[in-house]
Amino acid sequence: MIPNLDWLRHAVCAGMDQRAFFATGRHARAQVFAAKRVCDACPVREQCREWAIESGERWGVWGGMSQDELRKKRRRFTSRAKAGTRPAPKKREPAKCGTRPGYQKHLREKTPVCGPCRQANTDADNRLRRTGTSKVLAP
Ligand code: SF4
Ligand SMILES: [Zn+2]
Repeated sequence: MIPNLDWLRHAVCAGMDQRAFFATGRHARAQVFAAKRVCDACPVREQCREWAIESGERWGVWGGMSQDELRKKRRRFTSRAKAGTRPAPKKREPAKCGTRPGYQKHLREKTPVCGPCRQANTDADNRLRRTGTSKVLAP
């Protein structure tokens, strides 16, 4: 099933530099804080947060929540899923090279960015310029 991401069109962060939402390095805490303030003004916070929880996003600020906060929510979501009230979120494979998550993994782990990852990140940036968001990480 193709997820419905229409809400992204109303995202306050559309067209913004997405790096603001994927904090790394020394100033990560301040960046996360700033990103959350952007989300505060976003009309699609709820959808964004749900998307992040259900798709198992493991990186970045989504729906005004840091990964720590999302993790707590996710745990609740998963235990509800086990109880049979909601479908279980699919398990994420570790980020593969040649994808934007792969690129972000390099940054996170401070390993040299490989060619395919650099390309994937450039593609995502181009997509961002064209569509106003790079966040469609599917399939
Ligand atoms: S809530 Fe989601 S869509 Fe809205 S600004 Fe924050 S990250 Fe972007
Ligand atoms: Zn790589």
